[in-house]
Amino acid sequence: MQGPEEKEAEKDGETALDIRKRKRLERDPLHQGLIVQRSHLKGREYQIDLAARLGKTQVVGVNMPLNQQAGYYCSVCDCILRDSQSYLDHINGKWHNRALGMTMRVEKSTVDQVRKRLEENKKKKEEKNDDDYLPDGIDRRILEAEQAEERAQEEKRTRKLEKKQKERQQREEEETEGADADMMAVMGFGGFGTTKK
Ligand SMILES: [Zn+2]
Repeated sequence: MQGPEEKEAEKDGETALDIRKRKRLERDPLHQGLIVQRSHLKGREYQIDLAARLGKTQVVGVNMPLNQQAGYYCSVCDCILRDSQSYLDHINGKWHNRALGMTMRVEKSTVDQVRKRLEENKKKKEEKNDDDYLPDGIDRRILEAEQAEERAQEEKRTRKLEKKQKERQQREEEETEGADADMMAVMGFGGFGTTKK
């Protein structure tokens, strides 16, 4: 199926592709002299509501302006997309972003920028959790970490003490055993458990 403008174009010896190219150039701010250089690709600052016209009834005619026809209308490129998927493809695409004065290249982030963003996100996360702040302004997680460290140190200390105690006990046992043996030898015993005298 051909649109009315494409039929009209063929009369002048211009193909549909030529027309599309010419229109793209006409919309391009670089070719209009509005900008000198394309900017890097930027994120959208608005939310897309794909369901904005859901459930609405509309009369559609062939000769109506594009923005009143069925589908998703792009006011930048003056074109209509028939479904949400192709609309998203379009507004994320090369020609649409060119018309907005951008290249498809994304600006390279520096280490500082990445660090800053990470810090911002961290701050945001911390702000959300009010429970993490005790009344006196101490961060609960820091407090918990400190307590855990203290507990670990105490455990280590008790383990050391136990070990020392065990060693001492063993030494004492060995000494008493030796002493017993000496004593028994003196008294003429061969050892416990014997019936000889
Ligand atoms: Zn567009």
